[in-house]
Amino acid sequence: MTIAYRGKGNIYLNITNRCPSDCSFCLGKFTDEVFGHDLRLQQEPGLEDIFRELELACLDGPAAEVVLAGLGEPTMRLDEVLSIVEWLRLRRLRSRLDTNGLAALVHPGRQVAAELATAGLDAVSISLVAHNPEVYNQLCRPIFSKAYRAVIAFAKACLAESMEVELTVVDQPGVDIGACESIAVRMGAEFRVRPLLAGDGEEERE
Ligand code: SF4
Repeated sequence: MTIAYRGKGNIYLNITNRCPSDCSFCLGKFTDEVFGHDLRLQQEPGLEDIFRELELACLDGPAAEVVLAGLGEPTMRLDEVLSIVEWLRLRRLRSRLDTNGLAALVHPGRQVAAELATAGLDAVSISLVAHNPEVYNQLCRPIFSKAYRAVIAFAKACLAESMEVELTVVDQPGVDIGACESIAVRMGAEFRVRPLLAGDGEEERE
């Protein structure tokens, strides 16, 4: 069970395997391994374990950024995410959150984007997945009925908090890449297309 691992010049954190969606293209459906590390968690690590693993990973040299990603959706553990981001900010380490953008539905009443910005999150990569709710629901099978609307709202809220925001889609049948890019451009976010099952552990994640 791996909590922190290195790849592409970054440090990645794997803090949960839980997620409110069931994407047909999810990496977790095909493998437990990323960069040769077993990311299947027998139990979710506590903050003490996470910080210890982070410190160990930092000993291997400078990292471009620390990315909260893993096999599940990091914001299922929003309070831990906020603590980790703050820990990184205090050490002047750049932070990025890879997310499905559904945290506001998982944590109703919380101002998720504002809380992340206050903690010091530098960048967020949000999985847009599709150009409309119908295709999104078909591919992601979220437990929430208004998930797609929440993803768009979360991206806009992060932009309003002056975070670096990237919308991503996986290149797969049924997804109108051009229409997705237009959505990103219209709101002022970056846009990135990820290949289906590139197998490097980041591409299939958010
Ligand atoms: S791809 Fe991301 S949002 Fe979809 S099921 Fe996997 S972890 Fe959850």
